[in-house]
Amino acid sequence: MIPASFDYVRATSLTHAIGLLQDDPDGNKLVAGGHTLIPTLKLRLASPALLIDISGIDELKGIEVADRIRIGALTTHAELLASKPLREVLPIFRQAADMIADPQVRNRGTIGGSLANADPAADWPAVVIALKGELELAGPTGRRCVAARDFFVDIMTTTLEPGEVLVAIHIPRPNPGAKFRYRKIRHPASGFAVVGVAVALRLQGGIVSEATIAITGATGRAFAADSASAHLIGKSLSTENIATAASFASEQAECLSDHYASADYRKHLVKTEVSRALASLNGA
Ligand SMILES: Cc1cc2nc3c(=O)[nH]c(=O)nc-3n(C[C@H](O)[C@H](O)[C@H](O)COP(=O)(O)OP(=O)(O)OC[C@H]3O[C@@H](n4cnc5c(N)ncnc54)[C@H](O)[C@@H]3O)c2cc1C
Repeated sequence: MIPASFDYVRATSLTHAIGLLQDDPDGNKLVAGGHTLIPTLKLRLASPALLIDISGIDELKGIEVADRIRIGALTTHAELLASKPLREVLPIFRQAADMIADPQVRNRGTIGGSLANADPAADWPAVVIALKGELELAGPTGRRCVAARDFFVDIMTTTLEPGEVLVAIHIPRPNPGAKFRYRKIRHPASGFAVVGVAVALRLQGGIVSEATIAITGATGRAFAADSASAHLIGKSLSTENIATAASFASEQAECLSDHYASADYRKHLVKTEVSRALASLNGA
């Protein structure tokens, strides 16, 4: 499988990359880790005139853990897996990164590429929604921030405008007592999520004071299971409360069906995975 011919430029700065994108926002494409885009080119599902390699842009790199957490778009899955400061504050990054594909993919694939690509089975969308993340976007008219929960529109579709680059993910530092869990049922071939569940919650004296549950893999886009999260506030993580929250999450999911998993099966998995994720945090 050989891609159609294209030109290639290594962008030297964010401004350079945005300028190149602006020359032909529909025809020119950014490449970061290339682990989604290159197979797409080989299958000729995309034939950009110009590939703009952003992998050398320093502003898109790095993990900063301070009052807020900033993760540059070019941060690889392997870097998220290995970061000790990040693990201490948000261990969910390690939990999720550890479940992405294999070392080859983790060494090259980036969180920014994953979010911008918006594969409905990708892991990071659920994690950044559960953590109430904001995505910083830069384009020809300046910068803006979009809440992660509003970023994903549909299968492979986001609110990124033509000419925009995802710069970084910003996450509020969690309050004391916050607990996190990422679980997924992996597709046996790719490792992608058939259903993935990210949970961020805070327990105070055994009572849930904050909760965000986000689901990926089940539907056309990752989403926040709001009624499930709301149900838990002010309650303990009893078996009954967990079961009701899991049912709410499953009811909200308008599930996809494919050759591997039917919509009904995915709905069932949402219920069981939300239950298991919540139960694992009880007393954790
Ligand atoms: C065998 C295999 C198994 C995989 N398994 C999993 C898995 O289990 N879980 C999972 O979540 N993912 C999985 N992936 C996907 C992998 O994580 C990809 O690396 C990731 O989805 C895309 O990141 P990338 O840096 O390679 O992006 P690229 O392929 O470089 O780009 C992907 C798309 O995003 C755009 N883009 C990239 N960076 C930016 C940016 N900063 N701003 C705006 N647009 C941008 C590109 O133009 C392109 O359209 C798998 C991939 C493979 C090949």
